[in-house]
Amino acid sequence: MRIGFIGLGNMGGGMAANLVEAGHQVRAFDLSEVALGQAKKAGCATFPTAKEAVSGVEAVVSMLPNGGIVKSVYGSDVIGHAPGGAILIDCSTIDVATAREVGAMAADGGYMMVDAPVSGGIAAASAGTLTFMVGGEDEAFRRAEPVLADMGKAVIHAGDAGNGQAAKICNNMLLAVQMIGTAEAFRMAERLGLDPQTFYDISSVSSGQCWSMTSYCPVPGVGPESPADKDYQGGFATALMLKDLKLAMAAAENAGSKTPLGQHARALYEDFAAENGGLDFSAIIRTL
Ligand code: NAD
Repeated sequence: MRIGFIGLGNMGGGMAANLVEAGHQVRAFDLSEVALGQAKKAGCATFPTAKEAVSGVEAVVSMLPNGGIVKSVYGSDVIGHAPGGAILIDCSTIDVATAREVGAMAADGGYMMVDAPVSGGIAAASAGTLTFMVGGEDEAFRRAEPVLADMGKAVIHAGDAGNGQAAKICNNMLLAVQMIGTAEAFRMAERLGLDPQTFYDISSVSSGQCWSMTSYCPVPGVGPESPADKDYQGGFATALMLKDLKLAMAAAENAGSKTPLGQHARALYEDFAAENGGLDFSAIIRTL
């Protein structure tokens, strides 16, 4: 398939490379020459503008920093420039309202579009093991699914336009709350005289068990290898968790949903990110 790919950064670079690997012809565009150079090495054809990259394609995939950029790229360079039959797939993490707005712009232009944000970081993007949460009509999902399957391990339909983003921010809000809770429990256990490994052995098979404990433990040397074992380098950056929590709180306000723990998690991550935005989000344990 001929695929236009816009946004070849930390995530998009690996995703585009996996599409090439799967046998697609990838036409790539990014504002960064460095990103374009890497895409070329991975086997993408590179173009000086997004309009040229989406010319004659059957699908467009984007992986961009935020909703403002997604809206401007689709509004100026994709809608009306990609062929009418192309399926449009935005994988960026953006706010639900903008995702729905861009979806409606695409529909007005005669295109099918899905929002398909991901779970999984840079390593999963490179390995082709992302999980995609997809919002859009049934037919749009059916057309996007095989393209997404070439970049991930799971592709899940979450409902209509914007529902992929809704699933992503609800999941990440839960993750943030769960990580802070896990970190608090380990610190308190230690203060009460429990060895962290002993607490892990007990809690990981008791009702406090959760992903933050058994797959991504914030305490070094406990549980499977995690960023805590590498001094909180790599993994999911605190700055990106804060971005998702801000999107979650904006969506909660729009929807009139009460999220007291989500708000608290956002405040704690905001303070922590001021000095530690590059560290993995499990490093929040250092504040306790
Ligand atoms: P990044 O900054 O590494 O990549 C973004 C790329 O978009 C850059 O190469 C930039 O030059 C390019 N870009 C910006 N404006 C552009 C424009 N107008 N036209 C073309 N290219 C443009 O960011 P990333 O880490 O790859 O993240 C991308 C998206 O994925 C974000 O929405 C992020 O929230 C989401 N995400 C990231 C991770 C992660 O672990 N990094 C995990 C899940 C989701």
